[in-house]
Amino acid sequence: MKGVEARLSAPLAAMALLTVGVLVAVLFMIAERVDRDALRHEQQLVQRGVDAKVADLQRIVAPQVFWDEAVKNLDNRFDPAWAADNISAYLIGQGGFDMIFVVNHEDRPVFNARVGKSATAADYERHVTNFKPLIAKVRAGEARRPRVTGPRADGGMVSSPLQASAIEAIDGEVYVVTASLVQPDFGTAVIRQARAPVVVTALKLDAVFLEVFASRFLLAGIHLHRGDMRPDADDAHVPLRDHAGKVVATLDWTPPHPGQRLLRKAVVPILLAVGGLAAVALIFARRSRRIAEGLVASEARAKHMAMHDALTGLPNRVLFEERLRQGVDGLSRRRGALAVLAIDLDRFKAVNDTHGHAAGDELIQVIGARLAGLCRASETLARLGGDEFGVVAVDIDPNGAAALAERLVAAMGAPVDLSCGTVFVGGSVGVAIITPDEAYVGAVEAARRADVAMYRAKDEGRGRYCFFEAEMDAALKARRGLEADLRKAMKDGGVWVAYQPQVDAAGKVLGVEALARWTHPEKGAISPAAFVPLAEDCGLIDDLGRLIMRRAFTDSLRWKHLKVAVNVSALQMRQVGFPDLVGEILAETGARADKIELEITEGALLGDDEVTHQAIGRLRAMGFSLALDDFGTGYSSLSYLRRYPIDKIKIDRSFITPLGGDKEAGAVVAAIVRLAKALHLSVIAEGVETNQQREQLQEIGCVQAQGFLFSAPVTADAIDAIVDEGGRMHLAAVA
Ligand code: C2E
Ligand code: CA
Ligand code: CA
Repeated sequence: MKGVEARLSAPLAAMALLTVGVLVAVLFMIAERVDRDALRHEQQLVQRGVDAKVADLQRIVAPQVFWDEAVKNLDNRFDPAWAADNISAYLIGQGGFDMIFVVNHEDRPVFNARVGKSATAADYERHVTNFKPLIAKVRAGEARRPRVTGPRADGGMVSSPLQASAIEAIDGEVYVVTASLVQPDFGTAVIRQARAPVVVTALKLDAVFLEVFASRFLLAGIHLHRGDMRPDADDAHVPLRDHAGKVVATLDWTPPHPGQRLLRKAVVPILLAVGGLAAVALIFARRSRRIAEGLVASEARAKHMAMHDALTGLPNRVLFEERLRQGVDGLSRRRGALAVLAIDLDRFKAVNDTHGHAAGDELIQVIGARLAGLCRASETLARLGGDEFGVVAVDIDPNGAAALAERLVAAMGAPVDLSCGTVFVGGSVGVAIITPDEAYVGAVEAARRADVAMYRAKDEGRGRYCFFEAEMDAALKARRGLEADLRKAMKDGGVWVAYQPQVDAAGKVLGVEALARWTHPEKGAISPAAFVPLAEDCGLIDDLGRLIMRRAFTDSLRWKHLKVAVNVSALQMRQVGFPDLVGEILAETGARADKIELEITEGALLGDDEVTHQAIGRLRAMGFSLALDDFGTGYSSLSYLRRYPIDKIKIDRSFITPLGGDKEAGAVVAAIVRLAKALHLSVIAEGVETNQQREQLQEIGCVQAQGFLFSAPVTADAIDAIVDEGGRMHLAAVA
């Protein structure tokens, strides 16, 4: 799983890093670009602001010099008082100029004004290098213009202002210097000298200017440095040039950083977003990793599940068959033989039926673990389904296989502690050996042989093992054939019911016992002692029991004065829904339960569990009476009689046969009769064949009897013929 993680997360981390890197780089580039654009824009604004300031100053001066009155008072004659009022006082008041000079047609100063004190000619001379280029510029303009000789005929303006400005460094300060030509506006006065006077103004760019400028353009930390000092091309600065284009001063201010501000503002949300994205990516990566892991795990699980049994965790039939094939294929390469063992529990169905499926599952788990503990690594134990297990063992000889089978049988025979209590199941094992030179037998046949041997072990009394022998095949085939025949017979009437009368002391018929009969087309009559267990083994017992009960219940309606006894095997009795089944047949046939007696054996009561007690109780509640069959052959008869509501006991034939001579036999029967009387139970003797037996029974006090002495089991029609309404038997009628 580590590999999957690394495979997934390394490129993912690289991608995330790259994305973040690219994003930050792009952001920085954008911020820088924004800052540069903002700076250029601000520099243009400041440059234009400086230009506007210069134009402003020209506009303030213009009306005072572009004026017929100015021509009159500064050229036609020079009136210092007029100049003081209209030039210096006015311009200082309007524009805050620091220096004002008027120069005449010979470019000599004729009027000097200075804030706070009068400007002197010396001041002018000192700055003349700064003024001269501007004056020259204005003069050049003047020379290009035609001379104004008077007002225009239409009364309009005769000329336009002629001005030149520059930024100049003067006395270590920075000034905006303007030269303005004195000219008539409407021509009511004209210049009389060869050239017009020029008014020169100078305004110092001082702290006040900077303050106004800064607040107008929203500039922070503005400074004016003399000279060209550009610490950094990217700095916020505007160079101020003089008439010759030389940088005389630099305006600089704290540069705007909108990009950086943006970046600062954006960085947190962007980092958050990137973080969020990274988290989402991580979650996706985790999830896909988990899915990948899940896929790998579920593939392994699916593989394991396809090969193993879910309940026990043991290999299943698929893996068993594969190992068996491998074992057979590998026979030629080995010296030892191959053994296949078929294992089947003997009483699993009984546990499952009486204690429920959960107990059955628990039992399988316990047994599975037990058997697994007995097998070596070279031996594959598998659960083949239900209560069947199998072992494939390689490199083994018949002795080794026998030892293994013996261990397995012993393990299954030991009591099993389940949550519902202790149970005894036992198991039978069939062994098939395939030697290296018998490899041609193949896997399928080897497994079949083990099965055949296992069935033989069951037939021989269960709880044992058997080796396969060739003759078993024939026996098994016969058994299979018989099964098919029974199935068919149950459908086409080959199975029917005979009735044997039960009489009292006077020979009066009180009831009949229903006995299953199978007349085989070739083999003739087959005993129920043979085909009832056969039906139980091959799963036909439910159908057979139903068939016989339905017949007997129906026939009971023919004999109003007779009770009909029906045999119920232990296996039938332990079926969970047995009382319901009986109830159904009762309803279906319309028979009366009080006319039916159910004959059960001690085997049916052996479990002594809740299910059996409930079933017996329900059957009694429905109105059936109960007879305990084959009495005396079981182990703890007396305790059963006390615990269960039994109505009648049937003394087994083995106690009756010796009667009429054997005194001992008589004593046992007498004891049983006394016991029955003490418990207020009816008692009947079965298998009564002779009159001596009957007489001795009557002496003992057992008056009811059943046996060949009275009648063999006969058809229902025969019962009609030999028993009359009063229960009297007409033996002559018996064939
Ligand atoms: P069981 O219940 O003890 O039935 C009595 C058996 O004794 C019957 O044999 C009957 O034919 C036989 N018998 C009757 N009188 C005499 C006699 O005087 N001398 C001798 N030697 N035998 C006598 P059957 O019919 O062969 O039945 C054998 C067993 O098969 C029965 O023993 C019973 O356990 C079982 N069985 C018969 N019918 C059914 C059935 O419908 N359902 C179930 N579950 N079991 C049945
Ligand atoms: Ca019986
Ligand atoms: Ca019996």
